[in-house]
Amino acid sequence: MIYHDVLEAVGNTPLIRLNRMTDPEDAEVLVKFEAVNIGGSVKTRTALNMIQAAEKDGRIGPDTIIVEPTSGNQGIGLALIGAVKGYKTRIIMPDSVSEERRKLVKNYGAEVVLIHDEGNIGACIEKCMQTALQMAKDDPNVFVPQQFENEANSQAHREQTGQEILKQAGKPIHGFCSGIGTGGTITGVGEALREQNPDILIWAIEPEHAAILSGKEVGSHIQMGIGDGVIPKILHQDVYQDIVIVTDEEALATARELAAKEGLMCGITGGTNVAAALRMAKKLGKGKTVVTILPDTAERYFSTELFDA
Ligand code: PMP
Repeated sequence: MIYHDVLEAVGNTPLIRLNRMTDPEDAEVLVKFEAVNIGGSVKTRTALNMIQAAEKDGRIGPDTIIVEPTSGNQGIGLALIGAVKGYKTRIIMPDSVSEERRKLVKNYGAEVVLIHDEGNIGACIEKCMQTALQMAKDDPNVFVPQQFENEANSQAHREQTGQEILKQAGKPIHGFCSGIGTGGTITGVGEALREQNPDILIWAIEPEHAAILSGKEVGSHIQMGIGDGVIPKILHQDVYQDIVIVTDEEALATARELAAKEGLMCGITGGTNVAAALRMAKKLGKGKTVVTILPDTAERYFSTELFDA
């Protein structure tokens, strides 16, 4: 089969069982391996759906400049789509995100604008957002998808990621957990899975130093892509029953273990998600099935602590 273009090949990532990291007395843990998605992350799905929705509504056209504030993967996804569809793309990023992310965005032909992170990722993301909105005010051709409030983001997960998981598992799923960046994943996948099993247990995961939903102070942490210090508009807080905390150390150790024990080389938040999924598997016990996501590839973290060990 030949794909018309690379965008046609987005999604349909494998769902893989963990074997060496799990306890036979616990629930099984299945991971959706988005490291092998086109663009290297789960966010190509949401970028594509947001752009397609805007095209359908006539909100964008040939002269559009896509501008988005993002801590990384969404920018890479948008830059890739801009390249294929011929839209100019400009990504506004905190300077604390990994160097690989900036280089990838640039290599897709997009422009990168860096905003200085003074040790508070939430404040920096807010500054990135204000910069993008100002650009939209100054230039009517600028379109800001606004992933934190764009329903096409969670819709991609409800209609695609979630449906793929249901079809691939082919049996009841008893638990799901996910870290929250925009909340698109937990809202969309969570609602898709709950439709199939109303009793499903869903956990939201927060980094220890960005536990805003838990009412804690937001500082800096290394679980890039989640814990941005804002409560996103598209997050449906009724989708999860509990909030669990994962430390930076636990996320890193688990991500390294996924590579060394399961051959699943993923980014830091894959470690975050699996650390919580293993706790959930213990709670639910043998015979049950827990699902989580490995949102991106490890290869955009060479310059970070993930490869320091
Ligand atoms: N992990 C990584 C590496 C990400 O880039 C993102 C997206 N920001 C997430 C997790 C969280 O996904 P969502 O935005 O759907 O909450």
